[in-house]
Amino acid sequence: MKITAIEAHPLRVELREPFAFSQWTFHQRQTTLVEVRTDQGVTGWGEAYGPALPNASAVRDFFAPMLMGRDPRDTEALWHFLFARSLDYGQKGTMLAAISALDIAFWDIKARAAGVPLYRLLGGAETESIPCYATGFYFGGDEKLETRFAREAEGYLAEGFTAMKMKVGLGVERDAVLVAAVRRAIASSARLMIDANHAYTATEAIALGRMVEPHHIGWFEEPVSPLDIRSYLEVKRRITIPIAGGEAEYTRFGFEPLLRRRAVDYAQPELCACGGISEGMKIATLASIYGVHVTPHAWGSAVGLAAALHFYAALPGPPATLTPPQKLIECDRTENPLRAEIVEAPVRFHGGRLYVPQGMGLGVEVRSAALPRFQ
Ligand code: CA
Repeated sequence: MKITAIEAHPLRVELREPFAFSQWTFHQRQTTLVEVRTDQGVTGWGEAYGPALPNASAVRDFFAPMLMGRDPRDTEALWHFLFARSLDYGQKGTMLAAISALDIAFWDIKARAAGVPLYRLLGGAETESIPCYATGFYFGGDEKLETRFAREAEGYLAEGFTAMKMKVGLGVERDAVLVAAVRRAIASSARLMIDANHAYTATEAIALGRMVEPHHIGWFEEPVSPLDIRSYLEVKRRITIPIAGGEAEYTRFGFEPLLRRRAVDYAQPELCACGGISEGMKIATLASIYGVHVTPHAWGSAVGLAAALHFYAALPGPPATLTPPQKLIECDRTENPLRAEIVEAPVRFHGGRLYVPQGMGLGVEVRSAALPRFQ
């Protein structure tokens, strides 16, 4: 089997209602889908997380020409070939997002050619569905946040969610009030996590952590800068809430110190950025050595979500006990037409769980005809 064409599709959609988190306001969603075609009629799709045009250019202008004629089923060989070619220019960021998209598309092709869902090639699925948490509670709008957050929380409960994650990063005092409001709204009906998107210094993160500890927080995500492992360790030492992070980290080489030093309790690789399926599996193996849970970051289109589900379904669970903690995967609830409208059937959500697609490959069928609308 030979690669005959690679197309990058940078996609963008304006939002009806902009929303903000601790770093900036989103007015649009964007992502890049990558389509790899072969001489045997099998086509695979991948996704690159991050700024669409730079990622698309890295795929189209840099990597694609060197891949023509290669067999896409040689996933490991191709990963190292691409990584070696870009190592001198970008060990994190755009180059890795591009490699991630290509790697996911190669795995999609490999599984389709074998006639099986992708998880079968990764070791098999432990379960057919995975509990997920609603990612929401963004800032913005005219309504008082306490009121909107309470209503949003009740909405997630009504949809069947048993876990949800709220944004923090508006300032320690303000955050503490909002966390209390959400906890009050859901009582003990759901797990609650918080995500600062590295808004804080260690001192501030510790102060917030201590204020919200009574609200039984499942994890405190990206409390401090991803560049500052010492602050991660300091926060971890001084609060009892587990720490999560890693969505801004790349490859096994980037994750290794975070895991070895136990800077996080939950590692959150983004499959569409960290290096794809091939590298995600290696990061997960490292995490298992150091006793760190893995819970994939998933904030893209249906393609990226499907990739995360196959990957996560195939990972061994936590150390065996009679009542092991369940895996928990991210389920973005913000406005994003790229999540559902670009595939034939969106990833199935029911009863607080996401179902691993059972079709061949990634198990989601991209509707090429739907893409021009977003280009
Ligand atoms: Ca996050």
